[in-house]
Amino acid sequence: MSETRKLYYEDVYKKEFTAKVLECGECEKEFAVILDQTAFYPEGGGQPCDLGTLNRIAVLDVQEKDGEIVHYTKEAVEAGSEVIGKIDWDRRFDLMQQHSGEHIVSGLVHEAYGYDNVGFHMSSDVLTVDLSGVLTEAQLAEIEAETNKKIWENSEVEITYPSKEELEKLSYRSKKELTGQVRLVRFPGSDLCACCGTHVTHTGEIGAVKILTVENFHEGIRLTMICGKRVMDYLNMVNDQNRQVSVKLSAKIGETAAAVGRLQDENFRLKGQVAHVVDELCKAEADRWEGEGSVLLFHDGLEADQVRKMADAVMQKCSGCCAVFSSNGDGSYKYAMGELNGDLRQFTKEMNAALNGRGGGKPFFVQGSVKTSEEEIRQFFRQ
Ligand SMILES: [Zn+2]
Repeated sequence: MSETRKLYYEDVYKKEFTAKVLECGECEKEFAVILDQTAFYPEGGGQPCDLGTLNRIAVLDVQEKDGEIVHYTKEAVEAGSEVIGKIDWDRRFDLMQQHSGEHIVSGLVHEAYGYDNVGFHMSSDVLTVDLSGVLTEAQLAEIEAETNKKIWENSEVEITYPSKEELEKLSYRSKKELTGQVRLVRFPGSDLCACCGTHVTHTGEIGAVKILTVENFHEGIRLTMICGKRVMDYLNMVNDQNRQVSVKLSAKIGETAAAVGRLQDENFRLKGQVAHVVDELCKAEADRWEGEGSVLLFHDGLEADQVRKMADAVMQKCSGCCAVFSSNGDGSYKYAMGELNGDLRQFTKEMNAALNGRGGGKPFFVQGSVKTSEEEIRQFFRQ
């Protein structure tokens, strides 16, 4: 077994390289390619693998397996031949920004509060960090501000491979008991951590870090955060949303929340007014049909509970059956129908069958909808 040279450790910015194919075997629907050297980072240390191409053949996955770096490709490449590898640099640089940003946040939290990063996941939109203790929003805001300060100092990131003796004297973060050569990544003034991932060489490249959400998780908290270009993407999204809200409410961009609050108050007040008007209307209809026997009413645009209210109010006084229909404006009608001590079950069944409807309820009161015209409804009630 020959060890593949890890070009991503020698030059983390290598986007393109040539390599000799040592092996290419078929496995399931893919091919497993081993090269003499590679810039493809295999999944590990919480960092997803690189994607890209080998001779324009898509690399779908890269894994470290029994000490070998295996590139899974869509098509075969010839063993012994030379290939040109290209990695998807936008993806890789984004992952470097996320990973390096996470180290600074975790390092600063560890230094200030002694909590450990006990879980770390990078996905295509956010990264989550699980911490072993609880922090308030104010404390997190401080960590975020401190992280960005460290980023803008643009200090050089140091990667070292200390000896066992040197390691014993150092205090560094590590997820598990490590065996073999340990790789230490130092962000000056904020973190020293054992890590096999790819990192930016200067903190300024991270750009910025934004903590988005925090929730309780086991004994500690789970943060979601974004770094680098993702911060800009997020800002663009949020700014676009807020701009639209600002235009719709004629509010300044920094005052949209207050404007939404006013809108909610107004909506609450209007709902109260509408309820009052509907109550008055129900009362008026009940008075109007008092003792008149069965009655069929059309009132467009009512809500289901308003239709019910009106049917109930009128049936109390009309000494017959009261049916109320309200158009939804799309060729369908809500209905409510009631008769004191009546039994409307059979009638409702026939009406639903004749008027393409559905619904039911108690023997003396039913509710539902029909898909038909006012003319058809009147025609049915005339029978
Ligand atoms: Zn790491």
